[in-house]
Amino acid sequence: MDATPKPAVKKPADIQVLHCLNSECRGLLAYEVDSQNVLYVDLAWTAKVDGDTRYFPCPQCNGRNIVEEFRTDKGQMKHRVVRWEPARGNVGSREADQLAAERLDLMPRTVRDKLDRVGIKLHLEQWQRLPMAERERLRDLPCEQADDVTRYATTVEQLVIGLSGQPPDRIKPRA
Ligand SMILES: [Zn+2]
Repeated sequence: MDATPKPAVKKPADIQVLHCLNSECRGLLAYEVDSQNVLYVDLAWTAKVDGDTRYFPCPQCNGRNIVEEFRTDKGQMKHRVVRWEPARGNVGSREADQLAAERLDLMPRTVRDKLDRVGIKLHLEQWQRLPMAERERLRDLPCEQADDVTRYATTVEQLVIGLSGQPPDRIKPRA
């Protein structure tokens, strides 16, 4: 019998999708980072530049996720996302919200209306974890007749249970 514990063969991948550093937003940004927000593939060159500042704009809150260069223990130059700053000025933020809703990064008005009707609270974070096809489905499914409302509620419920193992939060349906 071999009783020696197996050595850890593989370090679990410490890669995640970058979330906006604004704790009230946490919007998804299309960059892979490790748990220290160090860019996995160094795409810092795609950052926007404003004077000495480099940042990834957040499509959701429009804020700036500031990117800075640093040197690793091994002397490598890398980049990491260090903090969040609000966008300078609010020009265009409505348009940005509109665009984000059209791209289904944000919940479109029509989905929010349907959720109100069925009495389910779908959190933005849950919405953003849904595959795009499911977001399109929730946008396009009818939710007018009583049958539709029931079916819509069931669909959302199953999706949320699929995500988290928990049924969604319920709210008072809007008549
Ligand atoms: Zn954001």
